[in-house]
Amino acid sequence: MQIYKVGGAVRDRLLGRPVSDVDWLVVGATVEQMQALGYRPVGADFPVFIHPKTGEEYALARTERKSGRGYGGFTFHASPEVTLEQDLIRRDLTINAMAEDEHGSLCDPYHGKTDLDKRILRHVSPAFAEDPLRVLRVARFAARYAPLGFRVAEETLELMRQISDSGELQALTAERSWKEIERALMEDQPQVFIQVLRDCAALKQLMPELDTLLDSDQRTLAVLEQAALHQQPLHVRWACLTHDLGGAIKAINQRFKAPRECQELALLVGECHGYCQQDYTLSASKLLELLQKFDVYRRPQRFEDYIAACEMIARGRQQLQEQGYPQGAYLRAAAQEAKAVDVKSLVERGLTGQALGEALRSERLAALERFTQA
Ligand code: ATP
Ligand code: MG
Repeated sequence: MQIYKVGGAVRDRLLGRPVSDVDWLVVGATVEQMQALGYRPVGADFPVFIHPKTGEEYALARTERKSGRGYGGFTFHASPEVTLEQDLIRRDLTINAMAEDEHGSLCDPYHGKTDLDKRILRHVSPAFAEDPLRVLRVARFAARYAPLGFRVAEETLELMRQISDSGELQALTAERSWKEIERALMEDQPQVFIQVLRDCAALKQLMPELDTLLDSDQRTLAVLEQAALHQQPLHVRWACLTHDLGGAIKAINQRFKAPRECQELALLVGECHGYCQQDYTLSASKLLELLQKFDVYRRPQRFEDYIAACEMIARGRQQLQEQGYPQGAYLRAAAQEAKAVDVKSLVERGLTGQALGEALRSERLAALERFTQA
């Protein structure tokens, strides 16, 4: 049997980027041979194994054929006869279809190295169209490698367009799509992910609300870019992406089954980002409403995330003042005042239940009135 290093590890080494996980390909072996060598199978009917010591993934060479709509609609054929070339041709991009043998020499039947040098993301074969997830993958790689000058090949973009127009993207499960979206949002230039999806008409299928918004207003892309520049966490980036979609945020959240933290912040930022805009002076009662809505007393971090998202919105819209983002400091200070109201003294006065809630509210309001008048 021959063992090759494949996929991202080969690509990223050639690019001089850090390699996170290594995938291995085994040619000329059977399931039984692998098990006899101590490799642990990852699943019953999937020809992938875990190395007993390193924990890295070893996959038997296989061919794939589409057998129906959606995922799961794939049949694998793994056998010792499947060659390296046959395995590599089922992969998505030429730069992902290179292998390295045990001596470190490159096996590159589909000219991935040439495309890597030319900074081109190009599909390997027409079989690319068999898995619509590849549209999202290419957009994600475009986002990741944009700083290196990569772009999607014209013929690959055309194929992505055909896949999008066919409606096949609708067959993707929320889980598979979200995994790509999540990883893409965490790249250095997530706005490129959205732009590429738009260029190939996939965004119209996946997030029609955002696609329509971008037709007339591109600022969301700049907001997302700022969120990445400032290394915001996933949920803040998601809230930045969806902040201007109003009533559609709920539907988008649910369509991709976004994690709870993402859903929650997106809804709050969508509803409340206007309160944090430039030259906007809030009344004490508005401030209180905002702080109560965020439950800043028990959820201080969520309020910080809101302020961060609002700052990215202001930056993306180029509404930032010279001294930075004073609205953030202002809201934080207001939260401090409301939090400083002493619950204990109210309890000691014998207040409970609804009466306590009302007293707390009016003391906080009074504190915020002093704050706004100061
Ligand atoms: P990353 O750095 O994001 O892990 P990667 O290229 O290693 O990038 P993986 O998702 O780990 O991506 O997959 C490993 C390899 O398997 C890819 O390089 C590619 O050759 C192949 N591959 C993975 N998913 C697909 C897919 N949906 N269609 C075609 N080939 C795929
Ligand atoms: Mg990988």
